[in-house]
Amino acid sequence: MYLFHSASKLSQFIQIQRNKYSKSIGFVPTMGALHQGHQSLVQASKSKAGLTVCSIFVNPTQFNQKSDLENYPKTLSKDIELLIKVGCDVLFFPTVQEIYPEGTSKKDLPEFDLAPLDSILEGKFRPGHFQGVAQVVSRLLAITTPDYLFLGQKDYQQIQIIKRLVNIQTIPVEIISCPIIREEDGLALSSRNVRLTPELKKQAHIIFNTLNWVKDHFHIYSVEELQEKAWSKLDIPGFKTEYFEIVDGQTLEKWISPQKPQSIIACVAVWVGEVRLIDNMVIK
Ligand code: AMP
Repeated sequence: MYLFHSASKLSQFIQIQRNKYSKSIGFVPTMGALHQGHQSLVQASKSKAGLTVCSIFVNPTQFNQKSDLENYPKTLSKDIELLIKVGCDVLFFPTVQEIYPEGTSKKDLPEFDLAPLDSILEGKFRPGHFQGVAQVVSRLLAITTPDYLFLGQKDYQQIQIIKRLVNIQTIPVEIISCPIIREEDGLALSSRNVRLTPELKKQAHIIFNTLNWVKDHFHIYSVEELQEKAWSKLDIPGFKTEYFEIVDGQTLEKWISPQKPQSIIACVAVWVGEVRLIDNMVIK
């Protein structure tokens, strides 16, 4: 596996791979602390693209709490081992300066028109988060110029935001969304799970069970009843639900019966002890 710190050297390398060796490029952006969820994205890229590039970059502009940025787990040598094991071709591991040469203060960064997608669900609780996501993805796509971009459905709203970004900037990339990889008990894999206490980790599968319950009872109860019952299922010591919403899968606006959108998704964010977990499930 090749390791690049420099954006310009990586761009040159990718151009050679594309022009001289006719390779298509698959790109998997991550923030590291890799697990089987990330691994599945690399594998999906390897089965579709000629060259798979993974990035590890903990993007400061998408964190709205300094402590969350500071506490974000870092496991670089294990990450490199995992990437080599799955056969990733290139790891891009830039510094903040490399990604944001003009700095990271708001006035130096572009502002994208993401409304209203960036102010609902996650956006309501993490103001500015999706602008940060769009800023880093826009920069990473400019550097890696991929044919395919692999994203996890775990961050469902993030996919909708990146689709919007790609549309605004007319970036010629195909977005491929990959299924959520879960622990055996149903807990969605997340880099943040390592910060759960063992007791709370044992209970965190209740989030998945609740989503499943809502899916199974979708035709029995009204949306309001489903949401109310979901909240009470998650009302256990150590848990604090931030939102549980049943939304149109494209607009992410609250689903109102009898509207018939292409898909309906249940999205949830819960504080489990000191750790904020998100999950979602396609209901219909
Ligand atoms: P992160 O490192 O958390 O920024 O995630 C990098 C990519 O991995 C994003 O596209 C995530 O949606 C995806 N991802 C994270 N967790 C999972 C999971 N459990 N299953 C599938 N994809 C995931």
